[in-house]
Amino acid sequence: MILNASDVNETPQQVCILGSTGSIGLSTLDVIRQNTQFTVFALTAGQNDAQMLAQCIEFKPQFAVMHDEHSAVRLKAALSSHNAKTQVLSGTQAMCDLVKADDVDVVMSAIVGAAGLLPTLSAVEAGKKVLLANKESLVMSGQLFIDKVKKHGAALLPIDSEHNAIFQCLPTQMQQDANNGNLLEQGISKILLTGSGGPFLKRDLNTLAQVTVDEAVAHPNWSMGRKISVDSATMMNKGLEFIEAKWLFNAQVDDIEVVIHPQSIIHSMVQYRDGSVLAQMGNPDMRTPIAHALAYPNRIDSGVKPLDFTAMSDFTFTAPDFSRYPNLKLAMDACRLGQGATTAINAANEVAVNAFLSNKVGFTDIYKINAEVLNKMPNGQTITLDDILNVDKVARAYACEIINKALN
Ligand code: NAD
Ligand code: MG
Repeated sequence: MILNASDVNETPQQVCILGSTGSIGLSTLDVIRQNTQFTVFALTAGQNDAQMLAQCIEFKPQFAVMHDEHSAVRLKAALSSHNAKTQVLSGTQAMCDLVKADDVDVVMSAIVGAAGLLPTLSAVEAGKKVLLANKESLVMSGQLFIDKVKKHGAALLPIDSEHNAIFQCLPTQMQQDANNGNLLEQGISKILLTGSGGPFLKRDLNTLAQVTVDEAVAHPNWSMGRKISVDSATMMNKGLEFIEAKWLFNAQVDDIEVVIHPQSIIHSMVQYRDGSVLAQMGNPDMRTPIAHALAYPNRIDSGVKPLDFTAMSDFTFTAPDFSRYPNLKLAMDACRLGQGATTAINAANEVAVNAFLSNKVGFTDIYKINAEVLNKMPNGQTITLDDILNVDKVARAYACEIINKALN
């Protein structure tokens, strides 16, 4: 879908946020708070009804959906005691139905993990402007997802800071059709995907097995949800982003290179055949890509402090060390193997990270579980949604089996 400046200038835009109580959800609401041309049509979340209540009181959406039914019951009671008009629904199907509503112009996809797949696909099928933070849905379903974007004329705008940066560095005509473009024809020789290296960039490799949950979720530059924080510490996040970049920019594996940039000021770069490298920079704050995508092709305030170049001491770049970040290598290998492997690794990782977050397995076990699942996966088709959901299910079962065996 081609988005014109007038589309987003003249009429108020109604937004549905999937995952409004999370880190990206809160940042999205903060950008909307500062830009009155956007109104909130619907909010959805997992089980945090207290946070959802506060959001409904402030933003007065027409609908609020909780994944968890008990949370929905509590929310309904609390809203009625505040005389609030928001209608409360529950479950994934309600989210899938709501994103399709005629009133919805923009859908922010910010549920964490595979739970985001069906509501995001539903928004794509309704041809909405879809702001994609939930990278897992694209990693899981790649070709199917992109085919649906094309078929239904959805506008897909990346929220992941790296992909948003790459998008901003693309030629304008390719921005209008990024997942269909031809990098070579556009004179692009490389996509340089930057990553900070997370909290363990310099930690003694021999002590990684003892990493605690608190250490793993303490990212040096970004404030994020717990799952993506652990993924950043293992750099599986960069691996998932590698796969995400392949689909978003119609790239081949060899078109993408990962560069460690610990300061997180450059959010990624595009290198052209004439030697030019375009980089997008800014303070590490997700409100910048959110504001960019919400207003695209216009620009709006985000509340992010401008960069102060004179206050920067270091600005460094290195190649990733795969012995420190084996999950990154595993995801890149899965990307070469194809859809079944990327669906499986995404599922295994979600189970492994949850097990780590609940102190059932150690930090370095995350890689072992992911690698073993990938190794065990039978070869099979991953073309239809059913194929994909089946691979996801089998990979989760293998991951649970490996974890349970280790625990007994
Ligand atoms: P988070 O854990 O802070 O929030 C997740 C949101 O999803 C919450 O609102 C939660 O209630 C909701 N949720 C969880 N399970 C659900 C379910 N089964 N059904 C419906 N809703 C459910 O996560 P986050 O950090 O905001 O990340 C969200 C997504 O954005 C992830 O896919 C992540 O990879 C991506 N992302 C996040 C950042 C960031 O800076 N936080 C940056 C780039 C990409
Ligand atoms: Mg990112």
